[in-house]
Formats: sequence, structure tokens, C-alpha cells
Amino acid sequence: MRELLTEADGYGVRVAGLGIAVAGDVDRAEGVVRYSPFLEWRDVPLAGLAAAVTGLPVTVDNDVRALTVAEQWFGAGVGLSDFAVVTVGAGIGCGLVVHGRVVAGAHGVAGEIGHVTVDPNGPPCHCGNRGCVEAIAADAAILARIRETGGTEVADTAEAVDRARHGDTDAREAYARAGEAIGRGIATVANLLGPARVIISGEGLAAYDLFAEQIREAFTAAAFGSAAQCDVRTRPLPFEEWARGAAATAIQSFITAPN
Ligand SMILES: [Zn+2]
Repeated sequence: MRELLTEADGYGVRVAGLGIAVAGDVDRAEGVVRYSPFLEWRDVPLAGLAAAVTGLPVTVDNDVRALTVAEQWFGAGVGLSDFAVVTVGAGIGCGLVVHGRVVAGAHGVAGEIGHVTVDPNGPPCHCGNRGCVEAIAADAAILARIRETGGTEVADTAEAVDRARHGDTDAREAYARAGEAIGRGIATVANLLGPARVIISGEGLAAYDLFAEQIREAFTAAAFGSAAQCDVRTRPLPFEEWARGAAATAIQSFITAPN
């Protein structure tokens, strides 16, 4: 962190604040990472720790919510009062903008589309439930499905994608199933909040050709009435966009009360 600040000095930039975006359940008001499954963190007072090291005001927020702020200010959400960002990849995340505000909910976990149940008899999820969107459509879930149905080892996502693109039926089925789960999850968001647009992004988009059709079909089938008019679009974003989201939340903390 100190190296980054020194680097900023080199550009003649005065750093006024620091924004950090972390996957998982993050309490922005308290600056605490309550639970991050990927980092295996529980109740880490990250804002306080980073402030002690840097001497700067620090904002800590959920990574997808931060990305949503960046999309609202600079991206595909500009000018929209109601939209959602859905990220696919290692996890399935969702950021919501309602009436022009990024929603965190009373407990900081609004928009957990990854843990919407789409199949009560589906595979177990790390959250303790079964058949969540994430338990079917996250990268690890897709690999597990290929191993289970094909009885063969598959090393990583790159291999799974490669096999699916070369016509391996087990791999193709696993991606199709993931697409159906994501499409249903998006329809749930559309039915609840009626966003004008849903932006699908995240590193999992690299395999989008393998599940785009299923996402669209499942979304259309499950969206109620006019909710189906929601503009569902994909937007591949560079990794830096996550950092931009974190920076946007830091700027936001200077100009608005945290929501
Ligand atoms: Zn779950």
C-alpha cells in the first residue's frame, strides 16, 4: 500500500483517500469485512487497519457494489435510475441501483443473487443451502459438474471451456445448466425491482458463448410481464475496472453520506 502511495507521489498526485473493494459481506459504514469466503476472512476491521498504515480516510465496500458505482458514474448505467450489475466467474455477484442509489440493504447484503435458490434439490452451496445460483454457475461448480457427470478430471476453467468448445457433451451441459441458473437469477432481480437494464460482466464472460442462449431463454421464461423488457446486456470489463470501482466509492464518501 505504501509503495502505491509513493508511486502516486511520483506522478505529482495528492492522494486524498483510499477505496478498497473486497468480495463478500462487507459493512461499509463500519469499515469491516464481515465474511469473505474467498479470502477466508471473518470480521476483519480493514478500513481501520488500512487507515493506520496510510494515515488516509479509507472506504471499504463489497467489490460488486463498488463496480456498480463505477458503472453508474462512468459506464453502462449512466443516466439510468434503476439497473443491476451481475458478475459471473469465481462467484456470482450483483449490484443494484434503485432510484439512483446503490443499494446495500439494512444488513449490507442486498442483491445476493448468487444465493437465490433455483433448485432446492441442487448441489450444496458453501453458504449452507442447496441449489443456489452460485452452487450451479460459479466456476468451481461448473468444474464439479463436469467431473460428476463425465467421471473425468478437469483441471481448470480454461480446460472446461476448451472441452465445451470442442463439443464435449458433459462440459457443454455444465455450461448450459449454469446459464439457466444465471438467467433465472436475473429474472428474479427483474421481477423484484424492474431494472431498466441488467449488465452482465465478470471474468466468467470469457465463456459467454457457451451459456448466452440459456441465460436469455431462462430469463425470458421466468421474467413476469413487462419485466421481460429489461435490457440484458454483456459488458466485458478489464480487471482495472474493479479498482476504479473502489476508487469511486472513496470519492463517493467525500461527496455523499454512505448508503
Ligand atoms: Zn448459497
